[in-house]
Amino acid sequence: MNTALIPADKDPMGSAIADYFNRQKADRLRVFSSLFDEDEIPVKELFRTEKQMPALERNALQLATGKILDVGAGSGCHSLALQETGKEVHAIDISPLSVDVMRKRGVRHAILANLFDEHFQGNYDTILMLMNGSGIIGKLENLPAFFRRMKQLLHPDGCILMDSSDLRYLFEEEDGSFSINLADNYYGEVDFRMQYKNICGEEFNWLYIDYQTLNLYAAESGFRAELIKEGKHYDYLAKLTLK
Ligand code: SAH
Repeated sequence: MNTALIPADKDPMGSAIADYFNRQKADRLRVFSSLFDEDEIPVKELFRTEKQMPALERNALQLATGKILDVGAGSGCHSLALQETGKEVHAIDISPLSVDVMRKRGVRHAILANLFDEHFQGNYDTILMLMNGSGIIGKLENLPAFFRRMKQLLHPDGCILMDSSDLRYLFEEEDGSFSINLADNYYGEVDFRMQYKNICGEEFNWLYIDYQTLNLYAAESGFRAELIKEGKHYDYLAKLTLK
């Protein structure tokens, strides 16, 4: 697993977050990928308040209890919402620019760390992974390593709350069948690259996983999966606990 941090000169998303925080506006955060047409992430949405969050995310915030770890916290939107309700949360991110913004916005425990770097230690009751939080796992083959890491960070009675999407709708034919080539890589493995102004990020793998596949891999690693809620477009929130 990659355990690196992102240098500021290769951090389009962190640069966009810093700009938006400092100037209340930002340029286009452009996204290129192996699967979708060129797209943009509206930077404002990275600063969404609890009211502006999709129902799946609000549901996850409600379920988060005890000592919470917000993984890949970005601008800190979820951590701030949790702090406001008196919950104890630690936010981690690999972007120094984003961690700096989180601290300035009042996230009390904003930590510059990669989830997969074993120097980062803790014992959490809830591990939150939101905004297609499964993405950070990168590839299907990383799932066993991911679950091993979760066992290091999770209290035995704790849970992971993760949202993801089943991308099979992208392969749906007019007759309702799916044209997925099973000899290819898993259809939810996507390569992304981002650009903000002239700052180009490195390519990274981002995993979208359907619930059945997540459930299968979880079971093999000693976790029980539960489908908490489905969204409007093949997206869902899952809860994973140790068996
Ligand atoms: N959760 C935030 C941001 C999502 S974008 C929100 O919902 O708005 C994904 C974030 O994960 C980025 O800020 C990125 O820097 C961070 N990230 C990616 N890989 C990571 C890793 N291995 N460990 C910690 N953070 C990571």
